[in-house]
Amino acid sequence: MGGTPLYFAKAKGATLTDADGREYIDYVSSWGAIILGHAHEAVTEAVAEAASRGTSYGAPHEGEITLAREVIARKGIDRVRFTNSGTEASLAVVRLARAATGRTKLLKFEGNYHGAIDSLLAKAGSGVATFGLPDSAGVPADSARTTLTARYNDAEDVRRLLEANPGEVAAILLEPVAGNMGLVPPESGFLESLRQLCDAHGTLLVVDEVMTGFRVARGGATELFGLRPDLVVMGKVIGGGLPVGAYGGRRELMEMVAPLGPVYQAGTLSGNPLAMAAGHAVLSRLTPSVYSHLELVGQRLEAGLRQAAVSAGVPAQVQRVGSMISVFFTESPVRDFEGAQGTDKALFGRLFHALLRRGVYLPPSALEAWFLNAAHTVETVDRTVEAFGAALREVRQGGHVEKR
Ligand code: PMP
Repeated sequence: MGGTPLYFAKAKGATLTDADGREYIDYVSSWGAIILGHAHEAVTEAVAEAASRGTSYGAPHEGEITLAREVIARKGIDRVRFTNSGTEASLAVVRLARAATGRTKLLKFEGNYHGAIDSLLAKAGSGVATFGLPDSAGVPADSARTTLTARYNDAEDVRRLLEANPGEVAAILLEPVAGNMGLVPPESGFLESLRQLCDAHGTLLVVDEVMTGFRVARGGATELFGLRPDLVVMGKVIGGGLPVGAYGGRRELMEMVAPLGPVYQAGTLSGNPLAMAAGHAVLSRLTPSVYSHLELVGQRLEAGLRQAAVSAGVPAQVQRVGSMISVFFTESPVRDFEGAQGTDKALFGRLFHALLRRGVYLPPSALEAWFLNAAHTVETVDRTVEAFGAALREVRQGGHVEKR
């Protein structure tokens, strides 16, 4: 985005305060980890209370069970294991999927992100799909070669890759609602086709709900879309703003993990008492009324942004699922990574700075989803829409990206 990154000093509700004391309406919500609002009293109290009883035991404790029960009930899975981040959970799931199937290859989607993991950084373009070239420096070619990449929302591309690699693909990794290339919803039939293809090819369907889990619905995207996963990866909301990830699934798969089974995975701070307490404080408060509020403010923001773009005469696509939303500056709906990359990112950059000056903090990238939290109100959304309209009128003609 250019400029100097903002440093923040505090956060409360839907508001961030930077080191110079300026306030912003926050649409990052810690990249989706915050759902009740920043510094929610129940969460800060639960963390303080847990800390007073010790910050880590390196041994089992009741807090893990309490959060695990909530997660299992919401996700309809048999077993869950906690990690310290989404990346760590994805790493563990890949190992488990390879062990369970005796296969090595993975299939992921262009523009989907599952953590900074060598084998999962491959993302875009036919060259990557064909040759498995590393997408990040430092990734061994051998590691990237085992990863196939398909076009998002394109089940035929997946079918082709599975047929070209018969009996070799351990798992398909999927963001059920793509949030790491801006917000790209799954098209009707896409998720169902993936389930059928996995069944036909003996491939495990790993649904990455790090962003969507407990956010887009009580049980996450699998509930919202009626999708049956083999394994689920979770993070963000599950830790209430503390470092947590998790993975889970059917009993026979999860019992392959040590000490019951031969797949090793561990972490000194996994199941950390502070993180478990924060996660439970949040999940236990995610009631139907919280989801209806998020939907209400989400709808209002979507409609307002769309109208403001029309009034400013700027072609824009406002794409949303629940409290995840983004605006792409382009003529037609964005359905995959290529489409997302082809949008007017320079305009987004100018808008980002124009909105900062008006006290609205968006994700500093045209290719990231914006996140609402329960502290966003009709009033904060209306103020945002007004600022968005004014910012868009200011920046629509082009010009340099403002340095702050
Ligand atoms: N999966 C998805 C879908 C994500 O959005 C992210 C993080 N943005 C991750 C995995 C990795 O999680 P973490 O940053 O906690 O390692």
